Amino acid sequence: MKYVYFFGAGKADGKGDMKDLLGGKGAGLAEMTRIGLPVPAGFTITTETCDYYFKHGRKYPKELQKEVQKNLERLEKLTRKKLGDAKDPLLVSVRSGSARSMPGMMETILNLGLNDKSVEGLARATQNGRFAYDAYRRFVQMYSSVVIGLPKEDLEARLRAMKNRLGVKDDTQVTAEGWRELVREYKEYFQQKTGKAFPEDPEEQLWGAIGAVFESWMGEKAVTYRRVEKITGLLGTAVNVVQMVYGNTGDDSGTGVCFTRDPSTGEKTFFGDFLLNAQGEDVVAGIRTPMHLNELAKLMPKVYKQLERVRQTLEKHYRDMQDLEFTVENGKLYMLQTRTGKRTPSAAFRMAVDMVDEGLIKVEEALERIKAEDVERLFYPVIDPALARGDLSARKVVSGINAVPGAAVGKAVFTAQDAEAWAARGEKVILVRHETSPEDVGGMYVAQGILTATGGKTSHAAVVARGWGKCCIVGAEKLEIDLAKKTLSSNGRSVREGEWLTLDGGEGVVYTGEIALVRPEPPKAFATLMKWADKVRTLGVRTNADTPQDARVAREMGAEGIGLCRTEHMFFKDFEHPEKSGERQQAIQEMILADTQEARRKALDKLLPFQRRDFIGIFEAMDGLPVTIRLLDPPLHEFVPHDPEKQRELAKKIGISAEAVKRRVDQLHEANPMLGHRGCRLCITYPEILEMQVRAIIEAAIDCQKRKIKVIPEIMHPLTLDKKEYQILDQATRRIADELISKAKVKLHYLVGTMIELPRAALLAGEIAELAEFFSFGTNDLTQTTMGLSRDDAGRFLPEYVDETKAGILAADPFQTIDAAGVGLLIEWAIARGRKTRPNLKIGICGEHAGDTESVKFCHRAGMNYVSASPFHVAIARLAAAQAVIESKKNHKAK
Ligand code: PEP
Ligand code: MG
Repeated sequence: MKYVYFFGAGKADGKGDMKDLLGGKGAGLAEMTRIGLPVPAGFTITTETCDYYFKHGRKYPKELQKEVQKNLERLEKLTRKKLGDAKDPLLVSVRSGSARSMPGMMETILNLGLNDKSVEGLARATQNGRFAYDAYRRFVQMYSSVVIGLPKEDLEARLRAMKNRLGVKDDTQVTAEGWRELVREYKEYFQQKTGKAFPEDPEEQLWGAIGAVFESWMGEKAVTYRRVEKITGLLGTAVNVVQMVYGNTGDDSGTGVCFTRDPSTGEKTFFGDFLLNAQGEDVVAGIRTPMHLNELAKLMPKVYKQLERVRQTLEKHYRDMQDLEFTVENGKLYMLQTRTGKRTPSAAFRMAVDMVDEGLIKVEEALERIKAEDVERLFYPVIDPALARGDLSARKVVSGINAVPGAAVGKAVFTAQDAEAWAARGEKVILVRHETSPEDVGGMYVAQGILTATGGKTSHAAVVARGWGKCCIVGAEKLEIDLAKKTLSSNGRSVREGEWLTLDGGEGVVYTGEIALVRPEPPKAFATLMKWADKVRTLGVRTNADTPQDARVAREMGAEGIGLCRTEHMFFKDFEHPEKSGERQQAIQEMILADTQEARRKALDKLLPFQRRDFIGIFEAMDGLPVTIRLLDPPLHEFVPHDPEKQRELAKKIGISAEAVKRRVDQLHEANPMLGHRGCRLCITYPEILEMQVRAIIEAAIDCQKRKIKVIPEIMHPLTLDKKEYQILDQATRRIADELISKAKVKLHYLVGTMIELPRAALLAGEIAELAEFFSFGTNDLTQTTMGLSRDDAGRFLPEYVDETKAGILAADPFQTIDAAGVGLLIEWAIARGRKTRPNLKIGICGEHAGDTESVKFCHRAGMNYVSASPFHVAIARLAAAQAVIESKKNHKAK
């Protein structure tokens, strides 16, 4: 096995498509070298090595030592420099890089190879003692904290003390002598803390750094980031050992980060930041405010032209927007990284559509590039444009750089820990920081928005927030933050912890107070892309909607029918006439509390007109599209009051004694209501409920039909166990429906079918299909009953089940992404058996999984006719259904 891949002087062992093995950075460096771009030479230790390291008790494979040695010699030969050389030493950076970008989550060591001798060599070779000793102290500092784990604060305190002694403010004012002195102090501190001298041997330094990078893969921030970003299945990080180039050798040097298109809007313009006379991470860290690329064009026209050519080459080559890191050393350009750039959701749509128009990619590729999160985040809110500008400007606190658009409202908090604690209590927060660092990711994730006082559009805060499509303002330089008092102030205003803030990420303005937000219209590219998706997909997409309002929204989102109307939701609230909600509730409560069938029928008669009106509204909204209506499902005790005060009130309203109410409520109590008297068991024991609901549906349909509104009602029975049970329900349903239809003398086509939510029903699907005309998989319950995990309570321990550093038993939450291996097997069985009995059996899914990309792909492969997702997830399902077709085609070709 080969563990190390070399690149340099136009040749590389690796390639751009070897990301899994070389990490994104390693693969990018190899590819850029191959296509002739200016890249410093180096080598990459593979992710397989990292995997080996952790699987073998933190030991390296035998061959590694030799391979590293060989490649180091190759690098020395190519650069004509030697690591640790006393004359003109080779210096390297040692950087992490996994297959998926994890910005700032893992470690980096720069200037490796410096020691007391080679620093003199560097000083002579560059004729810059100050630069050489600055590089040296940076190395000793990084090595001590990253490799050895000495506290950063201790090291920084020594740096501050030294500057105080010298009476200087900026690092740039420190002399060579000052840096030399600091190195001496660092080393003393190192000896004191570790009992050993700081390693002077460059090879020892190198192995220390390699080990630290591998270790950082399992570091807390990296593990948290992977969990939050749902990154699984990677081998580990690669280690890139690359010849150092310097952006801090003077005013013809510098370092920058740029994007080949605007990552916020998607516009095809060159976008980026440049810091003059600065090293490596200074731009990303957001410590100094950088200049725009336009200024670089003026300052270093030749370099800019070359960079512009690199931009075009790389975009064409990778056929996607790239995020580039570069350094200019004494007027010479070096590319240090290329990777697919993170972008806002609307930029993702725009770029995908533009690139198809430009002929850069095919429609299929454009569709594959959009993620479910991109669709979801398109609908992020903005400040209500109807708000008077004057009111708004009176509330302005500060403005900064508009790093990620959208708007956010929350209470100000000043540390990531506070953000997490407040959010856990259900509070909405805005995280306010000087700058953010990878330690803050947990707090950034739960915050509504992020505000930092420093940094540019490529700072840590901006990059991370953009990946999440989370509103973010950076570089609000006039912002004064008092961490001790937990306040911020600017523009004569101050805001304490817990007070409301509103961020306008589009404009980069911060306001006090809780300002009203609205959801925007999706961009033009969204409609284009969704049209493409609809052309490609074969799976139908319906929606789960319980009210005419929801139905209308879902149609606008592209739903082709209703796959699940949960009728019990109609008992809680009257959406068209909220003032009548009480009346409905009372009728249903009367029905449940009734002692006799007669009393129950009386109550049901009161409910009938409400239900009929709801169904008419839904049929009208869906105007000819199929509507699946499920008969009553939940446990009855959910509808009745449990506290004595409310029980007394209800008793008075419906004219029975408080004791009678209490007795009945106690009777209804179940130890395990999820597996209790619910689903179609309700209609088996109280057939009058079925009667009323079927009547309401069919009467509503007849009413619409007479008014020339086309209707296709599908009556659905929940939680069926087997054919015998289903037969009773099926016969009763058809008897009532047919009677009404023949009495009305209309022609009305309707279907009767069932949900498949229990393993037993799935196993016996062949028999059930003898009667049922359609199946709809209720995968919420089917997951719960197959896995024996409560859908309401499993959240308490499921995180441990999906956390790779803990139990790691499941790859994903089975209530979110279908458990294809287990639950999926039952679904496939039921589909095969059902269709064997009834070849034209209509099959869909209406569990929450219908809004999840991977699950939709499973449904496509399983041969379902449609998925039914919540209105907001309809677009995600349409896209996923198209992606499923593309994926199947690819897999078919590969076979
Ligand atoms: C299901 O169980 O998947 C389903 C759609 O029904 P409910 O969520 O209402 O139980
Ligand atoms: Mg269910």
